[in-house]
Amino acid sequence: MDTQMLIGSKFERGTETDEAILNPRTGETILNLPEASPAQIEAAVAAAEKAFVTWSKTTPAQRSGYLLKIADRIEAEATEFARLEALNCGKPINAVLNDEIPAIVDCYRFFAGAVRSMPGLVAGEYLPGHTSMIRRDPVGVVASIAPWNYPLMMMAWKLAPAIGGGNTVVFKPSEQTPLTALKLARILADVLPEGVVNVVLGRGESVGNTLINHAKVGMISITGDVATGKKVLQAAAKSVKRTHLELGGKAPVIVFDDADIDAVVTGLRAFGYYNAGQDCTAACRIYAGKKIYDKLVADLSSAVSTIRYGHADDTENEIGPLISRRQRDRVASFVERASELKHIDITTGGQPGDGGGFYYQPTVVAGALQEDEIVRREVFGPVVSVTRFSDVDEAVGWANDSDYGLASSVWTKDISRAMATAARLQYGCTWINTHFMLTNEMPHGGLKQSGYGKDMSVYALEDYTAVRHVMIAHG
Ligand code: NAD
Repeated sequence: MDTQMLIGSKFERGTETDEAILNPRTGETILNLPEASPAQIEAAVAAAEKAFVTWSKTTPAQRSGYLLKIADRIEAEATEFARLEALNCGKPINAVLNDEIPAIVDCYRFFAGAVRSMPGLVAGEYLPGHTSMIRRDPVGVVASIAPWNYPLMMMAWKLAPAIGGGNTVVFKPSEQTPLTALKLARILADVLPEGVVNVVLGRGESVGNTLINHAKVGMISITGDVATGKKVLQAAAKSVKRTHLELGGKAPVIVFDDADIDAVVTGLRAFGYYNAGQDCTAACRIYAGKKIYDKLVADLSSAVSTIRYGHADDTENEIGPLISRRQRDRVASFVERASELKHIDITTGGQPGDGGGFYYQPTVVAGALQEDEIVRREVFGPVVSVTRFSDVDEAVGWANDSDYGLASSVWTKDISRAMATAARLQYGCTWINTHFMLTNEMPHGGLKQSGYGKDMSVYALEDYTAVRHVMIAHG
């Protein structure tokens, strides 16, 4: 197992406080990894700054070539990457191998193509006697900070557009899930010129905080909690750094009375509980039309009670445990507080799983009201609430009545109603008759406190590059 950070071309262990890296299925320690010292962070930023001088002058075709090599190397070692991610996050091995790794490989390949064909305004004489042109140039050193729910995928979403756009990066994985980042660091050191990507380990309040406050960092890209995003903004304000924030979500799912209930139930069973609900787009806040509410709650509860987890044969598992005891206890406390309300009915689940791992039963919370905490706050666990609505205005009003604005979905057989409802939702994404599906060609990112800045798609390349105007007088 790789345990060393990548600083320039050197591999070294951190020299500061040890962090225990846990196996969430058992609660046991896999290994301890020390975090980076201030001097090591300094060296990583210096290596990125030095590399920027030449990397920023490479052509799109050259950078594309590097991204394709990274994709090939990940694909060639897919099984080992999947094994490590499953170990560190508790994810079912098949979910990593069949869902995540192909999407990760495709992310590098998508940006390898996109960087060679960036769209923009045409050059021309917008002022008589002068030719104007638009350039898109890299920003500089990007501090990229990732969460624990999809470690290798978040790394792909951050690295591919950043280095594709000509920037250099100091990457910090979550202190809880560094294993695949350390493995990828070996490949990056093989493939890329020295210093283009550096990987440092450590906690948010120490290493993360040093990075976001570093004078030589030109841009901060972070996926994490809203509270963390606010700290990033405060740090960025000091030197007016560019920021790219992907923060939490609380996705509303509006199910109209005419929806195909079987399809809704199949969809919610998958998209409400995937990755044990540790997904910022999870279909977790259901608004059901009054005519289908009872059937939806009954069918969903029965379907959710069949979700497979905790089997010794991991190929049987559909979901894994939560990432940590703290996260499991947090999820449990949300459900406990909800269950104390008279109008709430926990129709399936509602308890931590057995054994030493951080499991929580897939749970349906029926009868939830708009003002309830379970409807308003992000649980980030395998818990879905269902609320009855009486008309479209009420459903849309409640869906939009949220601090978050990342993802949403609408389920109906009436396409006019679907389009009219989607147009009224204040979310970065609205799915119709599905949920959760992402593709590298399309942007992912939020509104409101879910943050701003897009991952994936050419919009991410725009975020990681600066628009510049160059004008020539004809003389
Ligand atoms: P977190 O905010 O605690 O940590 C995210 C990362 O930020 C970690 O690497 C952490 O070390 C770092 N960090 C924490 N405090 C910091 C600080 N003061 N300065 C610099 N870095 C700091 O979030 P988490 O618990 O790892 O992840 C779960 C959260 O991420 C959820 O709220 C979830 O919704 C959100 N998330 C959002 C998206 C999205 O695309 N919008 C995707 C995945 C996760």
